Amino acid sequence: MLQHLLHLLYPNLCLNCNKSLVQTERYLCLGCQINLPETNDHLTKENSVEKTMWGRIPFQRAFSFLYFNQRGVTQKLLHELKYRGNEELANYLGELYALRIKQTALNHGIDAIVAIPLHPSKLKKRGYNQSYAFAEGIAKGLAIENLSSAVERRKATDTQTKKTRAERWKNVSSIFCVTNTAILNKKHILLVDDVITTGATIESCGLEIIKSVDCTLSIASIAFAA
Ligand SMILES: [Zn+2]
Repeated sequence: MLQHLLHLLYPNLCLNCNKSLVQTERYLCLGCQINLPETNDHLTKENSVEKTMWGRIPFQRAFSFLYFNQRGVTQKLLHELKYRGNEELANYLGELYALRIKQTALNHGIDAIVAIPLHPSKLKKRGYNQSYAFAEGIAKGLAIENLSSAVERRKATDTQTKKTRAERWKNVSSIFCVTNTAILNKKHILLVDDVITTGATIESCGLEIIKSVDCTLSIASIAFAA
């Protein structure tokens, strides 16, 4: 509460340590940015995200930007995105991650990006889709198309946490629908979510996407919470 008030009064404070930001810094001071808990998954095959998705859906690569740490900086950033509607921060994180992806060969393989859509009722309530805003930042940074409008969410699902794997699967199956399959044909799509936990949402949406002809998939998220 105090932190919330502090940031309303002084918007130019580091979201993590509350230090004043200098002109070249955005959202985080340089020290906090350097110390972000980056997974570096984009550099490593057989990383934790890939292991989570193995055997469930065919994909090329999977990677998350940050580790989720309870009460740590990632949680503060996600809180800012989710409860304070900071769309620009989501764009910024996407652009930051694109700089990392650009340093790898991945940059050349990906044709377009698709964000996991929110159900229209949830979108209305929240005002924006944080996965979409993150995807926009990546798309801009990699100079690729954002084809998120090709996919719709039909059902607003409830929370996944207290369900068994089978129940989760039932919960997310057929909740997504590709409304423009042709636009995804022959493309390598980077499917983007905010947080990957069980991977059930990515699996469900990805399985719809790869129904397009010769469409291959890679997976990315802001955070990975094992
Ligand atoms: Zn800081």
